Amino acid sequence: MNIEISEVANLPTKYGTFKIQTFKEHHKEHLAIFTNELPDTPIVRVHSECLTGDVLSSLKCDCGQQLDMALEMIAKQGGMILYLRQEGRNIGLLNKVNAYALQDKGFDTVAANHQLGFPADARSYEIVHDILKHFKINKIKLLTNNPEKIKSLQAIEIVERLPIIVEKNEHNKNYLEVKKEQMGHLL
Ligand SMILES: [Zn+2]
Repeated sequence: MNIEISEVANLPTKYGTFKIQTFKEHHKEHLAIFTNELPDTPIVRVHSECLTGDVLSSLKCDCGQQLDMALEMIAKQGGMILYLRQEGRNIGLLNKVNAYALQDKGFDTVAANHQLGFPADARSYEIVHDILKHFKINKIKLLTNNPEKIKSLQAIEIVERLPIIVEKNEHNKNYLEVKKEQMGHLL
């Protein structure tokens, strides 16, 4: 795979100062956000872009709160967030908003994706292997509730799975329910 890699720069945040580096694959620009000190077995969070959750504070999903929790935890304990540009479980923003419109009519998240001709989850984690290899990281503690993510990172030794649980609200209740019941998330 042909990946273009940026320089490393400082990124001060409200949680602490991180380093940031971009990994450009085709037209997608993924990010590694990491602490100055990386432990031998760092905590890694693989986060897929969710503009509505990450930026607009949407309560329809748990993405924004998970990102904040991950930044806070990793700032304290050392590690890395891989921010992957696969919006809407990789169906893109336009299709995600179409799926939201179906959800407004009563479809659940999985049924809405199927109605539009997409799988429930179209994400890929190939690039994670390349990025971790670049940092010479082969053992991690993975911050996730998603067993599919663990399965797709087989080339990496996952020493421990750390849960990342967001509180339910009236808007994300069904979304979290579907994640648990239909997608096997450990919630
Ligand atoms: Zn989201």
